[in-house]
Amino acid sequence: MGNASSNFKLITAARLIDGTGSPPLERGAVLVEGDTIRAVGTEETVIPPEGASVERLDYKGTVLPGLVDCHVHLIGIGDGRPGDDLNKLPDEVLTLQAASNARTHLYSGVTTVRDCGAKHRTTFMLRRAVEMGITPAPRLVLAGRPVAIVGGHLSYFGVEATGEVECRAAVRQLIKEGADFIKITATGGTTQTSFPLRPSFTVQEMTAACDEAHKFGKHACAHCVSSQGIVNALDAGIDTIFHARFNEPDGSVRFQPEIADRIARQGVFVNPTLHVKRARIWAFEQQIESGPLDEDEQSAYDELRREYDSNLVCFQGLRDAGVTMVSGSDSAWGNYTMGGFPHEIEANVEAGMTPLDAVVSATGDSAKSCAIHREVGTLEPGKKADILVVDGDPSQDINALWNVADVFQNGALVDRRDFV
Ligand SMILES: [Zn+2]
Repeated sequence: MGNASSNFKLITAARLIDGTGSPPLERGAVLVEGDTIRAVGTEETVIPPEGASVERLDYKGTVLPGLVDCHVHLIGIGDGRPGDDLNKLPDEVLTLQAASNARTHLYSGVTTVRDCGAKHRTTFMLRRAVEMGITPAPRLVLAGRPVAIVGGHLSYFGVEATGEVECRAAVRQLIKEGADFIKITATGGTTQTSFPLRPSFTVQEMTAACDEAHKFGKHACAHCVSSQGIVNALDAGIDTIFHARFNEPDGSVRFQPEIADRIARQGVFVNPTLHVKRARIWAFEQQIESGPLDEDEQSAYDELRREYDSNLVCFQGLRDAGVTMVSGSDSAWGNYTMGGFPHEIEANVEAGMTPLDAVVSATGDSAKSCAIHREVGTLEPGKKADILVVDGDPSQDINALWNVADVFQNGALVDRRDFV
């Protein structure tokens, strides 16, 4: 084993994006010692210590922070099956699927994921296997099971809580098992027994869950697809809102600027999950190529397209209000397979972000929403060396994120040779 001075890497590239929102640096360099970033800047300013033995890696493209996907479901398949059906698979199969998805996402340049809800203890078991070196994965920020009401969205994954006492108990149980944060389904969703246009928990119940999480130094996130659900989550002290759909109980959509202002004022992050819906639209469009849709499919397709357009309008409204929008794919939910995080980041550009803002939404800002920004998310001295190198310039063309050259995790080059 070499001494400490032999453990340096100097990574240079045509340009560097640090993930803070600063403009790209031409001829950028990152100096890594062991698992930690020691210096970041231009090639002229980043100088390894004198006499140190340094591994030098020079790239034609762009060096940036490893991506942080703030919303995944590692147990998902992404083949279009609804969650109610996914839930019927045995835990053992779901755990293996989670391992496969975790590896795929890591190899695609995602070095941190926040898993927003899995069945039973599957993701906690994945973490144990990862810690033993059995299978590779991005850094894992885990909720374990989501906290739901009886029959509520994702209640089939194993937690149904009623009243403030059970909400606190659910949070304590999850933290005991290893939860890094708490995911609450504040409204219904695709779950058949739930009511997607209405809030689920009372404000008192959700306040108890959030308070209990905060007491342990954990953050709390809520799935919200109704305006009242968003308001309740804000009342309860939520830290991140997923989806943020402004649906009314009658099915209409009405963007409410005063709610957006409140989200911004409270410093709550919003993860808009645009592509998971577009992936379903694309699946229908693929189907149309081989023949017309039946009546039900056609009306579902039309509805999805209307919803997607209104999602884009709400996205703009939230951004205009000053809300920090963070990228999270929601894969492998619905038709959105793992390993395709750039689809979501690109959708943010379609919705109005500059490519550079979209990169920040998937690195520095995303890490903040996962409360992991002291460790990762930007290229800054002292942070863990989770680094992505792509061909091309994602600050000009966001689709350059698809062209992964290399991925570094904790300073080590990830071996992607078995990945096609
Ligand atoms: Zn989700």
